[in-house]
Amino acid sequence: MSAPSTPCADRLLAWFKRYRRALPWRGPWGGKRDPYRVWLSEIMLQQTQAATVVPRYEAFLDRWPTVDALARAHEREVLDAWAGLGYYRRARNLHRAAQVIVTAWSGRFPGSVKELESLPGVGAYTAAAIAALAFGVRTVAVDGNVARVLARVFAIPTPAGRSSRRLQAIGADLAPEALPGEFAEALIELGALVCRPREPRCGICPWQSACEAFRTGRTADFPVSVSRKRPAVRYSVAFRLTNRRGEVLLRRQSDPGPFQGMLVLPATPWAATRPSPAAVQAAEPQAPAWHRVAGVVEHGLTHLTLRTEIRAGATTRDPAPGEIWHPGRDDDQRLPAYTRKLLAHGADPEPAAAVR
Ligand code: SF4
Repeated sequence: MSAPSTPCADRLLAWFKRYRRALPWRGPWGGKRDPYRVWLSEIMLQQTQAATVVPRYEAFLDRWPTVDALARAHEREVLDAWAGLGYYRRARNLHRAAQVIVTAWSGRFPGSVKELESLPGVGAYTAAAIAALAFGVRTVAVDGNVARVLARVFAIPTPAGRSSRRLQAIGADLAPEALPGEFAEALIELGALVCRPREPRCGICPWQSACEAFRTGRTADFPVSVSRKRPAVRYSVAFRLTNRRGEVLLRRQSDPGPFQGMLVLPATPWAATRPSPAAVQAAEPQAPAWHRVAGVVEHGLTHLTLRTEIRAGATTRDPAPGEIWHPGRDDDQRLPAYTRKLLAHGADPEPAAAVR
């Protein structure tokens, strides 16, 4: 069996030019890219599929076409526009970073990886992506897709998490002087469309002749995996309080956490064990009676699994400051997915048990 050749940037670029997906944040081939648009798309694409991002990205740009416009927005407006994309910390950081760019950088994006990393919410991956795509820096952004491609091509024997520096250095070495942005994007696209986690499409891969895992028939062995830690579980009891019109009481979450600033049902604080009756009583809004809704709603975040029981009650009172009556529709995209899930579950309860 002959040794593989070196992965060729030109071959990858030719493949990408022909097959790349038309996405609104991609400009004409080799053209200059607006760092604001690159940054926005990269933040939205963290943890969210491209198909979900496309309409939200376009609506966001219609509303805030420049970094100055975004910096002037109210944080609550930005959070509301973000609803449905999840991971709201991204939206808060986006807004803060826009203000930093306007105040500390006179409205111009910094262009180096190090400077970009100083912005709120911009980590090593996003900084490298903006530097390569918008400023033509010879670097690559190593996400899961790129790590998988490089781990297979070079048969890297360590898990991606422990070899991120090496992967970054290998990728940057491969990046060409011309079109480094297209190259960085091509690597991501190759991982997403061809070098897939389970069945890689080696038969159509532009780097097949350079791929050690393919040559040795061990594509399933790379990237080397680590045993994954199971996400921690957190418990809460949420209160579905309705008025005579069937509207549901929601409040803005003021506590720090994944839903800070978002509309949620009143609830006990998150705890590592099921809340005690005393904790439930301390958190429940005033109502003549509460009924337990059967079942538990489970919602997964990156490092947490949230398990929520629901209590249902009715009231005639007015909302307090920070609270609203909401129609209770679980298809309201302005609400976080977690709140929509609770509304859907609570609206169609199995026979409920009286709490008291
Ligand atoms: S040849 Fe197969 S395993 Fe190697 S990079 Fe291409 S798709 Fe991935």
